[in-house]
Amino acid sequence: MYTALRLQRRLRQGEATVTVVEPNSYMTYQPFLPEAAAGNLEPRHVVVPLRSVLNGCRVVSGSVTGLNHAQRRAYIAPNQGTPYELHYDVLVGCPGSVARTLPIPGLAELGIGFKSVAEAIHIRNKVIERMDSAASSNDPQLRRRALTFVFIGGGFAGIEAIAELEDMARDACKFYPELSPSDMRWVMVEASGRVLPEVSPAMGLYTLKQLEHRGIEMKINTRVKSLVDGHVVLDSGEEFDAETIIWTAGVKAHPLLANTDLPLDERGRIKATAFLQVDGVEQAWTAGDCAAVPDLTRGEGATTSPSAQHAVRQARLLANNILADLRGEPIAPYEHRYAGSVASLGLHKGVADVYGMKLRGWPAWLMHRTYHLSRVPTFNRKARVLADWTLALFFRREIVSLGAFADPRAGFREAASPSAAPAAQVSTASAPVLSSKSAGHGEPNASVTGGRKPAATRTVGPAKPSGETSVA
Ligand SMILES: Cc1cc2nc3c(=O)[nH]c(=O)nc-3n(C[C@H](O)[C@H](O)[C@H](O)COP(=O)(O)OP(=O)(O)OC[C@H]3O[C@@H](n4cnc5c(N)ncnc54)[C@H](O)[C@@H]3O)c2cc1C
Repeated sequence: MYTALRLQRRLRQGEATVTVVEPNSYMTYQPFLPEAAAGNLEPRHVVVPLRSVLNGCRVVSGSVTGLNHAQRRAYIAPNQGTPYELHYDVLVGCPGSVARTLPIPGLAELGIGFKSVAEAIHIRNKVIERMDSAASSNDPQLRRRALTFVFIGGGFAGIEAIAELEDMARDACKFYPELSPSDMRWVMVEASGRVLPEVSPAMGLYTLKQLEHRGIEMKINTRVKSLVDGHVVLDSGEEFDAETIIWTAGVKAHPLLANTDLPLDERGRIKATAFLQVDGVEQAWTAGDCAAVPDLTRGEGATTSPSAQHAVRQARLLANNILADLRGEPIAPYEHRYAGSVASLGLHKGVADVYGMKLRGWPAWLMHRTYHLSRVPTFNRKARVLADWTLALFFRREIVSLGAFADPRAGFREAASPSAAPAAQVSTASAPVLSSKSAGHGEPNASVTGGRKPAATRTVGPAKPSGETSVA
């Protein structure tokens, strides 16, 4: 999107047309996903709608399933309809990366990644839903399982995600008298001996201690052996149950690349030159997570890391180089010394290691926000993100699960089903409060009982003090 945006702005009338093929109608600013999951940012504000931003380009809603660059053909599977071939002159191949998974039993069935806005919002909804379930149950096993959240992989996606979500859930506990933060179990499992390899070892250790101090269980030098049916087995011998398993253990180049005639390195990335051209191939360019771009600041053999920091800069240079190439002007190499990293660890908490400057806590968190605000594309998005943050200064976060969005037709389907039971036949098991009389709880439906309440009526939730008025 950054490349297309720059081309759209700089191409002269009639010089070229730009077609963008993308299955989503938006570009996702991934570094904001943890904040979207935590409810600090509106999900719509962490994405950029392609059709409004790229109004000078042709946007195709679909996926590229393969490429024959020798014949300048892309095979397109539109989101709906029959696949077709698209002919082009110049290729910009940037499909990014996908989660790098391992054949751990149960992972494919239960796990979820943290790379898309849908995943981030699903996880947010799930955390709040599990808090709702646990708060409404007396079963200690169910409560424990519902309130155990496991993250596998301690890079910055995993660390930011667990830190932001734990912070949100801890804050949300204020609205759940039946729950306390100590009822929740947040577990980070990391195979290597440290977290946040993107920052210095000292800052990684600070992050680890910070999260441990908050009660997050940081299991480093530990691997997951099995996740079957949500039963987590670690190689340390520890076993426990969890309903929420989030996989953030690294990325690999997009598998689509294997279905092209472009040269790939041993990690499946497109071989690129420092000028962002596909190595040895005419009229083909690449950048971002899917490309092995030589890192000129680190010498022979080194390639740039998969980060937004490189992807965004490369995208802009890529557009400049395409324009220069079209106009017979010299093209420039990509050279950017990795500036370091900033990570948010929840509201007002962070860690930063930028150009050797090490910051912790509130200043790091502020730097994280300032940096990403400067990077998120378009003035419109910047304004919306800033508005969300400003509102959050005055109001509490929204603690609401919109999980029903995953199946919005469920209610209508049930109502329209010929076998739908009339309301009077609703089973007592699914509506214990409505059936309180028959269950011997001694109260009519929708009752307001004044004065001291008999102990037998406190059927739901463990924590309501006795002697209170009960409204069912
Ligand atoms: C939670 C999280 C937090 C992060 N935080 C940071 C951070 O703080 N700092 C930092 O520098 N980096 C961060 N990153 C990494 C950074 O977001 C990525 O390195 C960056 O997005 C890579 O850009 P890209 O354009 O190569 O790939 P992407 O942003 O993944 O874009 C690839 C696009 O290609 C599309 N696509 C895929 N397959 C096809 C196909 N077959 N046909 C057509 N289109 C296709 C995808 O839908 C996607 O829109 C974070 C990543 C995550 C997940």
